[in-house]
Amino acid sequence: MPLLELRNVSKSFALPRGTLAVLEDISFSVEEGEFVAIVGPSGCGKSTLLRLINGIVSLSSGQVLYRGKQVDGINLETALVFQSFALLPWLSVKANVEMGLEARGISAEEREKRASIYIDKVGLDGFEEAYPRELSGGMKQRVGFARALAVEPQVLLMDEPFSALDALTAITLREELLDIWQAPDMSVKTIIMVTHIIEEAIELADRIIVLGSRPGRVVADLPVDLPRPRDRRSDAFNAWTDKVFSLIEERG
Ligand code: ADP
Repeated sequence: MPLLELRNVSKSFALPRGTLAVLEDISFSVEEGEFVAIVGPSGCGKSTLLRLINGIVSLSSGQVLYRGKQVDGINLETALVFQSFALLPWLSVKANVEMGLEARGISAEEREKRASIYIDKVGLDGFEEAYPRELSGGMKQRVGFARALAVEPQVLLMDEPFSALDALTAITLREELLDIWQAPDMSVKTIIMVTHIIEEAIELADRIIVLGSRPGRVVADLPVDLPRPRDRRSDAFNAWTDKVFSLIEERG
């Protein structure tokens, strides 16, 4: 049984004049342990798709199944990481990390313990009492990671997590994300990441799902069989980049 299965999922939004069809007839499965990247042009519905999988946005038609069961409402086995970090500026690092735990009814003692563990894991030990305005972009996203990891989800849903960071910070955080994904003591086994950067998808993912535009539909589903660690400067990597770009041009 796949971990996650989307069956003929469509989504439209009601607008003042008519409806906007954003996603159309999306079907794919994700296996436990996979790192899947979803790529496609801006506005094709990638973020909406991620939010449908999380359950924060409802489907117009179709089904999302998690371990074979239809998901109704928010799937608590998933946690989101956002491009904009989505931190609350009036809360400390620790309080931001604890935020998701409070909503899940976890006791104050356990919240404190988890915040300390995950702040440490993302390399922010000593910054527990700092406020978001005192942190660099990379540090803010580390808080975003810690907040998502602290709920100990099975699936990490990442929406352009590196797009707001400078290039060097993004390189470091990508490597750290792979370490988190591969660490045996982490709850997260499966990652679904939205990105518009093709090279990022090829560097990180086991599989790339390409969405076409208006309304978004799956135009390609490619396993990435490049050995890890992946070197962006290698010929094999460049061949993959060419392949994915041509597919997007041809079918997108
Ligand atoms: P992407 O992540 O691929 O850039 P999005 O999923 O953010 O695309 O958006 C796809 C389309 O859906 C856009 O045209 C966007 O304006 C529209 N959209 C997203 N959320 C809403 C909403 N809550 N209400 C109306 N339209 C929305």
